[in-house]
Amino acid sequence: MFERRRTRQIYVRDVAVGGGAPISVQSMTTTKTADVEGTLAQIYALAAAGADIVRCTCNEEEAAEGLAQIIPRSPVPIVADIHFQYRLALAAIEAGVDALRLNPGNIRKPDQIKAVAHEAKDRGLPIRIGVNAGSLDPDIAKRHGGATPEALVASAQRELAYFDEVGFEDVKISVKSSNVPVMIDAYRLLSETVDFPLHLGVTEAGPLPNGLIKSTVGIGTLLAEGIGDTIRFSLTADPVEEARAGRQLLETLGLRERKGLDLIACPSCGRAEVDVIKVANDAQAALADRNIPLQVAVMGCVVNGPGEAREADLGIAAGRGKGHLFVKGKVVRVVPEAEMVDALLREAELIMAEGIEARLAAADEGAEAEAERARDELLQIQGTDVNHASEKIEKIREIAE
Ligand code: SF4
Repeated sequence: MFERRRTRQIYVRDVAVGGGAPISVQSMTTTKTADVEGTLAQIYALAAAGADIVRCTCNEEEAAEGLAQIIPRSPVPIVADIHFQYRLALAAIEAGVDALRLNPGNIRKPDQIKAVAHEAKDRGLPIRIGVNAGSLDPDIAKRHGGATPEALVASAQRELAYFDEVGFEDVKISVKSSNVPVMIDAYRLLSETVDFPLHLGVTEAGPLPNGLIKSTVGIGTLLAEGIGDTIRFSLTADPVEEARAGRQLLETLGLRERKGLDLIACPSCGRAEVDVIKVANDAQAALADRNIPLQVAVMGCVVNGPGEAREADLGIAAGRGKGHLFVKGKVVRVVPEAEMVDALLREAELIMAEGIEARLAAADEGAEAEAERARDELLQIQGTDVNHASEKIEKIREIAE
């Protein structure tokens, strides 16, 4: 749907980044990398939640030693995160990492940068130039009057020039800021300047829900413009939330195939016959762990529910003590209200086993007619204007006269 900007392609182990490859999801472990078992447990959890690539800090010698044991057992490629000490980049390469992230703001000696690029080139490893507004090279910040989009891009370009001197171009780039408009502009500018794959992120986005909103707006805006090849949500939360959020954003934009549940629910209104929030949360909890890749709707009333959610694979709509189970907008069964969530779960499993067409063919005779009766009944009780909007409009007109 969104035309992607063409970039070169690089590989982080077996994951292609850029050049039309599916946009990958990244996250970062929060354990001490020297804690091999703890870090591996988190890497497995992140991979299960949708992370394609995981980054681990390599901030001390023990971390590099941990990486040597983690990497052969990791289900996904591992990137070593390097700040300040170029020797730790060389140690991480020795440990067998699949890629490096270098911060040009805190490894600034040209000889050191070139030594790492040279080694990475010899081993066929990519490097992410990870520019961060909070740790920008001071002389670049001074020249540009702060961490502006131009300053972030200039920092990446300076690093690229050093890499170029040793003939190294196996690169992806990020220009992150915690200021979302600055981040968006920096990536737009960068995408006009270079054709390397871009790693998107809003840095230090913070706890939920603000962190999610900032990251979604920043990353989502750029993805919708075709910019971005790999993404990371930087949340102050369990990193599993980052992986889930990244994956979900890509699925929402239609940029990755849906792997899990997409639960939609009406916002509820005066017509609602049940506590929609509770039923939606119960359904989400019951369905989420099963990794069912269906779009499931929870609708507050049978008057509008099945029609409004007709695109959903499966849904439930409440009506006078009953739950109306519908598949692709067609009511297939009517169940007692207390059994709504269980019925939804059962039907989801049957759809996965038998397919949508088979479940439509197995619809209860008379279910559609019963739903029709419930609709009419509710309309009679509630009227066509359940929120009394016309009454209010009349009163407004009287006041205005
Ligand atoms: S009309 Fe029915 S389906 Fe639509 S918001 Fe109200 S309760 Fe939900």
